[in-house]
Amino acid sequence: MTPIGINIHRSQQPPAPPTDEPVIGIDLGTTNSLVAIMSPETGKPVVLPGPDGSTLVPSVIAFAGSETLVGFDARRCATLQPQTTVFSIKRLMGKGLGDLGRELEFLPYHVVESSMTDLVRVQIGDRFYTPQELSAVILATLKRRAEAHFGRPVTKAVITVPAYFDDAQRQATRDAGRIAGLDVLRIVNEPTAAALAYGLDREHDGKVAVYDLGGGTFDISVLRISEGVFQVLATHGDTYLGGDDLDRDVMRFIRARFEAARGHALGEDPRLLSQLREQAEAARIALSSGDRATVRLEVPGEPAFELELTRQQVEDLCSPWIDKTLEHCRIALRDAGLAGEDLDAVVMVGGVTRMPLLRQKVAAFFGGHVPLHTDINPDEVVALGAAVQAHVLAGKTRDLLLLDVTPLSLGIETMGGAVSKLIMRNTHVPCSASEKFTTFVDGQTSVKIHVLQGERELVKDCRSLATFDLRDIPPMPAGLPKIKVTFHIDADGILNVTAAEERSGRSASVQVTPTHGLAKAEIERMVAESIASARADLTAHRLIDLRNQADVDIRAIRKTLARVGDALPADERVKIEAAIADVERLAAGTEPDPLHKRLDELGKMTRRLAELGIRKTLME
Ligand code: AMP
Repeated sequence: MTPIGINIHRSQQPPAPPTDEPVIGIDLGTTNSLVAIMSPETGKPVVLPGPDGSTLVPSVIAFAGSETLVGFDARRCATLQPQTTVFSIKRLMGKGLGDLGRELEFLPYHVVESSMTDLVRVQIGDRFYTPQELSAVILATLKRRAEAHFGRPVTKAVITVPAYFDDAQRQATRDAGRIAGLDVLRIVNEPTAAALAYGLDREHDGKVAVYDLGGGTFDISVLRISEGVFQVLATHGDTYLGGDDLDRDVMRFIRARFEAARGHALGEDPRLLSQLREQAEAARIALSSGDRATVRLEVPGEPAFELELTRQQVEDLCSPWIDKTLEHCRIALRDAGLAGEDLDAVVMVGGVTRMPLLRQKVAAFFGGHVPLHTDINPDEVVALGAAVQAHVLAGKTRDLLLLDVTPLSLGIETMGGAVSKLIMRNTHVPCSASEKFTTFVDGQTSVKIHVLQGERELVKDCRSLATFDLRDIPPMPAGLPKIKVTFHIDADGILNVTAAEERSGRSASVQVTPTHGLAKAEIERMVAESIASARADLTAHRLIDLRNQADVDIRAIRKTLARVGDALPADERVKIEAAIADVERLAAGTEPDPLHKRLDELGKMTRRLAELGIRKTLME
């Protein structure tokens, strides 16, 4: 049994003073997002509806001319302008192109890899957006919804993420919050939030499974809860299994009945397909409460097609999918070292868990005696739990779940004056993190490690904590040394930074107390500044990354041109020289998008040159 993360930790520190400022709870979902708050009237969490009365904001953004649409309005654009409508952005958070593979097949919009950071961006027209910026658009909509409710600005939030999200994905979620103008007090695991909504944090020693089947993803998490401390014992699932798969099977069934009745194919007209999808989903949902549902398709040029579906038929279609989820449950239980009967409760999350057959099968799987929690709306339960956590962090509850956390992020200086963060603000201590770096010039034998604290992206805006040198690295070409930098903060808040060059075994380290001399007001100022300048800072960081990349690329291209350039036709060499000149000019400017574009073009244009260089090296 390997504990993979402790989510909430009871602090020994005095409780946070109550703040008057509201703290909101946000479920930033793949398909839908919601915002919840603690109701002062009832003392219970509630999800806030928008002007349309719906509590859900579909996680969709559409770029229509100069307008940016979010939610239901954006979702309507998906069929008509698939290339400028962004959905499922959560799947891209903190990912590089290499991590994606299968995801790309499902996304009609253009995804490109950023140079240097290895993270993806979405290209809409000639603009590039990071997944963080796009998620920030959704978060800003939820923030405005909360502000309309309170009649005052809202700047503090708790945001949920899947238990399996890694550090990069969690960090991307935090950045999204910052861009939207939110100070993210805590990133909470979705299953933990669901358990909090049911008040399960009060268990003395409980084991709980959270079964979450949404529109596109399935997760099962097994948690141990002991007096307010949540531990994820195991998590498993499939990021491509959800209500959409059930709908596809129901669609196939309706299509086959249509074709048998009408004697011709239904065809692939996008409008007809979108009607078919809507009808299939509506019937499937209706059959969670009724026994029969009618599907009606308006087919151009012929009479409408009507078909009655029974609950039994739809259950037969859905049953294999439910069994698939149970396979994941079996693996999660095995990883947690538990049997179904060892659990004290199963919490049901996600719209599909309203299906009676699913509930029966899940109950039977866990041994029949474990209570299934289904009372809270399964679409809202995660957001409601986030609001419970938000309320705790606002210091409004006596039943404290607090954290010993780092008050500000910690990182090191990298080329060009940017900060690479290793430990994020609000990470609970003790903790460790490491990352690999390399040299920038050939034959470099020492590197300066500059340790910084703060939320901003550039060195000049952060607090300098210490510097030390890693010396006697054997001379190597730039990019070859592997320097592993490790940050470790112990339970007393003392930071130890070590830098080790892996090929030569050289290492050096320094110890500092990051909170030394840091007043609460200063922490607040640094956080507030980082929020105010989030967009400008990220642009500046990106520009530095692109300039570094341009520098490395141009040096490599010039070297190769000198070696094998003669083998290229003269006009191709002229084109490359012109592109290099453009990149140099753009790198001296302040706009990252055109530089990114021209740098990508230069990369494509010099592929043949690079191949010639490799061939020459092989022959030498
Ligand atoms: P979520 O991602 O949690 O919002 O879940 C959305 C999914 O739940 C969609 O696939 C919906 O079709 C499905 N869903 C919502 N209500 C029901 C219901 N009553 N019965 C079955 N599936 C439902």
